[in-house]
Amino acid sequence: MKLGIVGLPNVGKSTLFNALTKAGAGAENYPFCTIDPNVGVVNVPDKRLEVLNDMYNPRKKTPTTIEFVDIAGLVKGASKGEGLGNKFLAHIREVEAVAQVVRCFTDNNVTHVDGDINPLRDIEIINTELILADLSAVERRMAKTSKMAKSGEKEYIEELQELELLQNSLEEGKNIRQLDLGEQGQRLVKELQLLSAKPIIYIANIDEGDVGTADNEMVSQVRKHAAGENARVVTISAKIEADIAELDEEEAGLFLEEMGLKESGLDRVITAGYELLDLITFFTAGEKEVRAWTVRSGSSAPEAAGKIHTDMQRGFIRAEVVSYDDLIASGSISDAREKGLLRLEGKEYIMQDGDVCYFRFNV
Ligand code: GDP
Repeated sequence: MKLGIVGLPNVGKSTLFNALTKAGAGAENYPFCTIDPNVGVVNVPDKRLEVLNDMYNPRKKTPTTIEFVDIAGLVKGASKGEGLGNKFLAHIREVEAVAQVVRCFTDNNVTHVDGDINPLRDIEIINTELILADLSAVERRMAKTSKMAKSGEKEYIEELQELELLQNSLEEGKNIRQLDLGEQGQRLVKELQLLSAKPIIYIANIDEGDVGTADNEMVSQVRKHAAGENARVVTISAKIEADIAELDEEEAGLFLEEMGLKESGLDRVITAGYELLDLITFFTAGEKEVRAWTVRSGSSAPEAAGKIHTDMQRGFIRAEVVSYDDLIASGSISDAREKGLLRLEGKEYIMQDGDVCYFRFNV
């Protein structure tokens, strides 16, 4: 599951990306990191894992991760191949969701590509490029489909109608994600890998001095825009996050306390990204290891088992499941079992966030 960081040049994308990856999972476990420096594997913060760690006292504690991709190179005209345009757009096709960094910091030493600082214009430039790229993808498909539709075959005529709907909305400047599409529309969006269909969050990159204070005018504008799209906004100072990422855990905690903050901006970015991707966490716990795992919400128990090992999915028999809350309230797994809170679940069971699982399987 990948989250792409996009935005105009000089808005703080790389600063944020570097902070995320520096604070994140060790690259040694993820060899592809060294192959592609723009992909970073980041630990997902989860207090529940710490509590389980205290309960089980295992030899190892392993958080779950998501990937961030630093997608540089978007400028006005990217959809027409300006700058690194085409490459940029191809990179966005490969991620499941988008985090758009918006410059809301003033620093006169950092030039803005368009002269002055104007978050709404910046958002508009990026979103327009994505919409234009989608429009040309839709129109290319229309050219093919209309040839086929000449045969009078219903399938192609219907597809053409659907494509026209998409074309009209895009021409009106609407993002695909804002449309209420039927089954066929959704299929086309997936096939054409439309960019403006991807879920989005906005990351308002604010001045260091504005951290922990009320929203400034620029952030309010971003919030208003995002609300119109049903999107979330996370405010951070990428610069401060980069500084914090250099500190060890204890120093970082003190630093946050001094600033009057409960958690780091990075944690908020990661958590918001995780939710945006519609992911949930389940746990496995034993004396060897407590570990957090990720599945898409709506996944079945065998699919969850498959995240651990394909053999576990293939030979799945059943899962013993206790919710995190029930386990903590019981005090231990044996107490949870005595109280009947450890459930036996079969192949049809849909995983819930916070499930603690023991999978039974045939080898
Ligand atoms: P990118 O082109 O979007 O990847 O932007 P960079 O991360 O390279 O940042 C561009 C410049 O802005 C660099 O000089 C950063 O140090 C600076 N910068 C990034 N974030 C902040 C911030 O929160 N505050 C200030 N004052 N400068 C920042």
